[in-house]
Amino acid sequence: MYGLGILKGLGVTIKHFAATYIEDFKQGMKHYTDEERFAIRQGVEARGLFTVQYPEEKLAVPERFRYMPFLVVNDADHPDAPGQPWCTSCGICSKVCPPQCIWIVRCTDPETGRPKPEPREFYIDIDICMNCGFCAEFCPFDAIKMDHDYEISSYDRSSAHIYDLEKLSKPLSYWQTIAPTRAEEERLAREAKEAAKAGKVQG
Ligand code: SF4
Ligand code: SF4
Repeated sequence: MYGLGILKGLGVTIKHFAATYIEDFKQGMKHYTDEERFAIRQGVEARGLFTVQYPEEKLAVPERFRYMPFLVVNDADHPDAPGQPWCTSCGICSKVCPPQCIWIVRCTDPETGRPKPEPREFYIDIDICMNCGFCAEFCPFDAIKMDHDYEISSYDRSSAHIYDLEKLSKPLSYWQTIAPTRAEEERLAREAKEAAKAGKVQG
């Protein structure tokens, strides 16, 4: 029927329009003066239409939001290996990366000359990265994750956009803060894997 699409479109607009006032009413019309209510109004669960005065105001991003990848390292207070990267330099992420923007150099043991499961260098060209998240999906060691930090623009495009090991490394506690559900799921999965491995060894 002619006009049905227009009516459906108008319906969506009216729904958003009404939701705006319902939401504002729920926040007691104090959403711009009360910090707590403002955070709710600007949060991911908010409904209706509103303007975000970026960069002074920022929308909270959902847990599964993904921007540039970063490498997980142990926290500074780790009892055995503070700051140790989880990356084993296996190279899987660089192989699956569609635009091929990951470059890894593996460590070698200075005495034996044999490769060590640790990265000596790790680079990501963030101008080429398309935020697909394949690297994080395929990493068998939970060592690379997608960050929530999207404010990374700069005036230097020749070197500042090649992230090195130092710039890419962030502690586990950071990952637990930005993605608590995922981090907990991964921790449980790792524990189950370890337990299964230990059971096999004993058996
Ligand atoms: S897949 Fe994971 S462990 Fe392997 S090189 Fe990439 S980040 Fe490191
Ligand atoms: S997010 Fe995608 S494009 Fe970016 S480094 Fe990972 S695999 Fe490559």
